[in-house]
Amino acid sequence: MPVSTPRWRRAVVTGGAGFVGSHLCTTLIDSGTAVVCVDDFCTGSPDNVAHLADRDGFSLLRADVTRPFGVDRPVDLVLHFASPASPGDYLRLPVHTLESGSLGTRNAIALARSHGARFVLASTSEVYGDPQQHPQNERYWGHVNPVGPRSVYDEAKRYAEALTTAEINAHGLNGAIVRLFNTYGSRMRAHDGRAVPTFIRQALAGEPLTVTGDGGQTRSITYVDDTVEGVLAVAASDLAQPVNIGNPAEMTVLQLARLVVELTGSGSGIEFVERPTDDPSVRCPDIGLARDKLQWEPRTPAVEGLTRTIAWFRENPEN
Ligand code: NAD
Repeated sequence: MPVSTPRWRRAVVTGGAGFVGSHLCTTLIDSGTAVVCVDDFCTGSPDNVAHLADRDGFSLLRADVTRPFGVDRPVDLVLHFASPASPGDYLRLPVHTLESGSLGTRNAIALARSHGARFVLASTSEVYGDPQQHPQNERYWGHVNPVGPRSVYDEAKRYAEALTTAEINAHGLNGAIVRLFNTYGSRMRAHDGRAVPTFIRQALAGEPLTVTGDGGQTRSITYVDDTVEGVLAVAASDLAQPVNIGNPAEMTVLQLARLVVELTGSGSGIEFVERPTDDPSVRCPDIGLARDKLQWEPRTPAVEGLTRTIAWFRENPEN
């Protein structure tokens, strides 16, 4: 993929052994940036960055970012991606999720400040909750239940955004926030509970695809290469605010399931199951800001991204 990032000398990627983080590490190393990948492997795995182990400039530091951590070489970019991210993971690790967003963000910012580095927080479309404005632009405040089951994730990210913003405004942090919408691609775990890997796993196994509710709720899915480009475009900019990074091509969950069945050539049917509490009804980014300021927009059609992802799942069935 084309790399338009400046040559950062060294980037720290927290959560770098996870799904999105491992793609960020790969793109940065490919562009000549040294990378310190920091991860506690609570939801990620060293396997996700094993292909980088012998590359010049790559190092892997096992650390939990909820505790202070340091890097004893110069760093000019900190990408803070460490957090459980799938509902199954954050419901299993509720306090760790809250602390990764609060203490983890504090420690990642402290690292960036100590090096005078640019800081980018990975936030999420979940800060919009079950939105009452559609599509969601960055000025929308969200509609979040502070004590619902998803709150451990949503509120951790909202706090992380508030902390990052306070550090920018009060202490001159060179920071920005990316609000990522559902991203999919290789190295997602087959059992992580998110819709794309679940549907692909079920379709490849010939099992029914479990669609929640009536499947009419919408999602916008972004291929991971596009997300990585968007994150690095924000990092390279002088923006100091939240930026939506997502695909405005919205589809219903039922349409997504049918598309996966078609692209896998599976004979699987659809089974409707109960919808989780506080599951958002609609989700679609307004990406006007990223288009205007960064000339960024997703380039990978769902058919192409899903075809590549399905090919990866066929090759890595036991991931
Ligand atoms: P993931 O679970 O695959 O990756 C998260 C990584 O962070 C894992 O490797 C995990 O081991 C590590 N981690 C978690 N807590 C940690 C801690 N305290 N210390 C050190 N490492 C820790 O999830 P992902 O989908 O790659 O998400 C990465 C980031 O992007 C998260 O911050 C998530 O909130 C954000 N995000 C992702 C999506 C998406 O669709 N994938 C959407 C919105 C936001």
